[in-house]
Amino acid sequence: MVERQGILASIENDFPQWYQDVLEKAQLADNGPVRGTMVMRPYSYAMWERMQSAMDARIKATGAENVYLPLFIPQSYLEREAEHVEGFSPELAVVTHAGGKELTEPVVVRPTSETLFGEVMAKWIQSHRDLPLLLNQWANVVRWEMRPRVFLRTTEFLWQEGHTAHATREDAADYARRIHLDVYQDFLENVLAIPVLPGFKTPSERFAGAINTMTCEAMMGDGKALQMATSHELGQNFANAFGITFSDAEGVAQTAWTTSWGSSTRMMGGLIMSHGDASGLVLPPRIAPHQVVVLVVKEDARTLAAARAIVADLKAAGVRVKLDDRTQVGFGRRATEWELKGVPVRIEVGPRDLDAGVLTFVRRDRVGKQQMPATEVASRVPALLDEIQRDLFAVARTRLADRTARVSTVDEAREAARTGFAVIDWNALGEAGEKLLNRDAITVRCLQTREGALPDPHEPEQDLVAVVARAY
Ligand code: AMP
Repeated sequence: MVERQGILASIENDFPQWYQDVLEKAQLADNGPVRGTMVMRPYSYAMWERMQSAMDARIKATGAENVYLPLFIPQSYLEREAEHVEGFSPELAVVTHAGGKELTEPVVVRPTSETLFGEVMAKWIQSHRDLPLLLNQWANVVRWEMRPRVFLRTTEFLWQEGHTAHATREDAADYARRIHLDVYQDFLENVLAIPVLPGFKTPSERFAGAINTMTCEAMMGDGKALQMATSHELGQNFANAFGITFSDAEGVAQTAWTTSWGSSTRMMGGLIMSHGDASGLVLPPRIAPHQVVVLVVKEDARTLAAARAIVADLKAAGVRVKLDDRTQVGFGRRATEWELKGVPVRIEVGPRDLDAGVLTFVRRDRVGKQQMPATEVASRVPALLDEIQRDLFAVARTRLADRTARVSTVDEAREAARTGFAVIDWNALGEAGEKLLNRDAITVRCLQTREGALPDPHEPEQDLVAVVARAY
């Protein structure tokens, strides 16, 4: 424990500084030279790649296909949907000069590809047989953020953005809901082990141009909320602006209904702030670049050979395992480093244990050393990793429950939001109450059913509750 002290700021007393320290000390990311940009180092990029592949598989399972649209958008495209351009204009990066001269029409660096998708959909859709059109893109986008923070809010970030067109409002709503629950919530809970509250945004928090915005809200270690992903029902707003029409079965021209949905590198920030502890990152095994690190305790041919054999056995059992044989670096220092990096299991291989036929291992999410018979490593570690995955989710879920208060007045909601979430009847709070809370930087994160579920978009008159919190 001693060697940990002083490496990170106190997670209890200075959560924001702790976060910054983890970014640096766990070698996750640096600031880029332009304010608000970031450099993702190999360790965080490896996690992003895992996030991408897990999400991509889920997105494709809903029937969507990947495409790639250009980075540059004619400025006039953004002006076609009035509410949309208003929502984005302060955040736009606009190219006015290129090729050594002033451009006749300025070009916007995409803040989202909504309008370009509108354009291509209008072109690709003619008949009801072309619907639904289900598209997704993995790309970088630019939003000139005023208060940037690495991963949470950067001026350039990586994301996926899905854009779909449907024949009916019901079909669009159902698909967006499916993305929200089967892609986002499923991924966040089962891969990142982060419990989320799926819900609707209030009218004032809705995406510009959307008729309904769904969000997955999560509670961070300090009790604040982070929006992990959003899905929008865009109604016919974009279809009208871009002329996305189709002829129905009777040959009558109809306007399509569109959706869009996105999740970004912000999820990395959520991962850090959900599970991290005083010693650094704590990674769920399903996302960890190295699920197990095998540490050779000291320089010795027999120990090294044994460690290599364990690594080979674990690899054969499908475990992502890293050998740390840097015996020239002190053992304590190396152990601290892997702790900082949140590797779920550390196995220590030393001569004394070898003689006894046992291995010492440490779970990152538990205090203290444990032992297992050396011969059982390959058969026991996969189950151990599953158990850690489940335990991390359970711990996060308990925190969410413990730090959520059911309240009935604005004052009580404000008080509860000092340390966690408040749940209040939306009818009792209303938009007037929402405005009052906003003055203290407290927002309605989402509206849910009383049972904590995503409301039904086809049931406008529902008895909903508002989840209220301070947020990142
Ligand atoms: P939006 O297009 O605003 O609905 O955002 C889609 C997703 O991107 C949401 O999950 C947001 O939390 C995330 N996001 C929005 N702005 C940023 C940003 N500046 N940096 C990182 N992620 C962002």
